[in-house]
Amino acid sequence: MIVILKQGITPQEKDKVRDFLTEKGFIVKEIVGQQDTILGAVGKVSIDPRTVELLPGVSSVVPISKPYKLASRELKKEDTIVHVGKVSIGGNRVAVIAGPCAVENYDQIMTIAESVRESGAVMLRGGAFKPRTSPYAFQGLGEEGLKLLKKAGDAFDMPITSEVVSPSDVKMMAEYVDMFQIGARNMQNFELLKEVGKTGMPVLLKRGLAATIEEWLMAAEYLMASGTDQVVLCERGIRTYEKATRNTLDCSAIPVVQKLTHLPVIGDPSHATGIRDMVAPMSLAIVASGASGIIVEVHNHPENALSDGPQSLYPSQFRKLVHDIQALCPVVGKSLERVPRKTVIAEQAGKEEKKNEQSVTAAFQGVRGAYSELAVRRAFDESVGVLPCHTFTDAFDAVSSGNAKYAVLPIENTLGGTIYDNLDLLAMHPELTVVGEVQVRIQHDLIVLPGTQLEDIKKVYSHPQGLKQCRTFLEKELPDAEQVAFFDTAGAAEFVAKTKDKSIAAIAGAPAAEYYGLESLRNGIESDASNYTRFYILSREENAGIYRSQAPLDKASISFSVSDESGSLMNVLHLIADKGVNMTKLESRPIPGKPWEYLFFVELQLPDRGTFDTLCEEMKEKTVTFRVLGLYASAIE
Ligand code: PEP
Ligand code: MN
Repeated sequence: MIVILKQGITPQEKDKVRDFLTEKGFIVKEIVGQQDTILGAVGKVSIDPRTVELLPGVSSVVPISKPYKLASRELKKEDTIVHVGKVSIGGNRVAVIAGPCAVENYDQIMTIAESVRESGAVMLRGGAFKPRTSPYAFQGLGEEGLKLLKKAGDAFDMPITSEVVSPSDVKMMAEYVDMFQIGARNMQNFELLKEVGKTGMPVLLKRGLAATIEEWLMAAEYLMASGTDQVVLCERGIRTYEKATRNTLDCSAIPVVQKLTHLPVIGDPSHATGIRDMVAPMSLAIVASGASGIIVEVHNHPENALSDGPQSLYPSQFRKLVHDIQALCPVVGKSLERVPRKTVIAEQAGKEEKKNEQSVTAAFQGVRGAYSELAVRRAFDESVGVLPCHTFTDAFDAVSSGNAKYAVLPIENTLGGTIYDNLDLLAMHPELTVVGEVQVRIQHDLIVLPGTQLEDIKKVYSHPQGLKQCRTFLEKELPDAEQVAFFDTAGAAEFVAKTKDKSIAAIAGAPAAEYYGLESLRNGIESDASNYTRFYILSREENAGIYRSQAPLDKASISFSVSDESGSLMNVLHLIADKGVNMTKLESRPIPGKPWEYLFFVELQLPDRGTFDTLCEEMKEKTVTFRVLGLYASAIE
């Protein structure tokens, strides 16, 4: 049963309710949700719910209608995110687990691990105990295989998963694996489930060869009742009369299971099909069905593999598959789970960071001295390192992969309007949250090599916007100078410094002059002084709490889509107006992969939290997709 606690319950009252239930023989789990805090009480005993309802601090008691309780969505509304090392499985993520069917030898597992990691896998699989149909087939390397798998996982910074087939192996295996795998043939091996559950470790639970969804969820319940709440379900095809494929992939089970349970569900296209050519299309079908990931077999020499060669992908096929999954993710509102490699972070986070040994980095687009770098400095103190990125996409990738803790990206300019590229990228990165905003006044200087006079200047380099914004100055003071468009303002300053040519000048911000050892010949040459750019500070969801602005949260950014019928947008906007909430920005953008459908971006002045939470609930009901991009403190110049 679900015991819903009153908002104002005291810790003592909560302990009393918990003790009461435990004494009656229930297993009690506390779940803190967005709305309520509840105690889930499950067990063999049954009591009159009214005896619980009468306890101080209890709001109500609701029975769980399903035979599985701890695994049920009735008990826990929010998605469970399973954490395996640094990898998160569940929610909006698509995690790719890859590796051979079985660990065969050192070279094989190291080669495969390196290549799947390089292509985008975040976890490594590999069987050491193989439950084979024939007793004469390769049975796996046992503990030796686990040692090799762990070596490969450590070398390429991936947590590992491997199948456990016997309760007596559980303790030994717990020393090696990061996630246990329960194979299809053992889904109802209840003694094994109990023993594995007791470790409290993450478990990948394959669906049985002929298991109904309910039986599968009951197996998850065994694991949870024994002590783990970290269960990932895996659809791997079921037995049907069809012989064209090894099994029949039951894609429809994925959305069904996600409705019934809060646990993440992934798919195994390799065992589902048994045929290499079917693996990629079925992987995409699994992701399109809403799964939180795939587990796929990859082998460097599938033709010589000791098991499941015919269904193993070549490394190049796997690389292409990950690309395709990445392209598909935004269509289903997901993003590929990416975890930076330890060694790679240091290499890629830029020389700046390495030199100063700074642990926190903020990515921005542009070269050193750019206005975006000014925005980073406005947001953070000097202890935060910077990671200059060539493109906006690179900056998003840096923060998404963890190479940078933050990205600071322009979202709107008072003269040029919204920077659509960044809204679109934000839509493609559901794992990112807006944690703050900063505003930078764009003040252009005429930047030259030291000693240059105005009359020496024959050419002026800048971003087209920079040239346009300084038109009055250029027409008046440098009427004969040629204006040359450059890809960015600070880049133009870098160019002047490199050419060492006194006949050229750049229009950029003062920090660029300083950074490249140049001089500002004239300051503030922009025609319109009210030229501001507003930047979002983005971070991965799990890092969002780390950014501490002193100011109170007073702004919210939201995105949503509505159905294609008359008044649907109006109905949503009415909700905002009816609550007296001030909407400060509204934009619409096309949704990639969905022609003529639009995503709306809204910024609001944040009302009190209660009003905002109610507004969100009401908006969710009137929208097709709904996402709070972030709550943050508004920028003040
Ligand atoms: C495996 O993943 O190696 C395996 C044997 O899968 P299943 O249990 O789904 O057959
Ligand atoms: Mn296999």
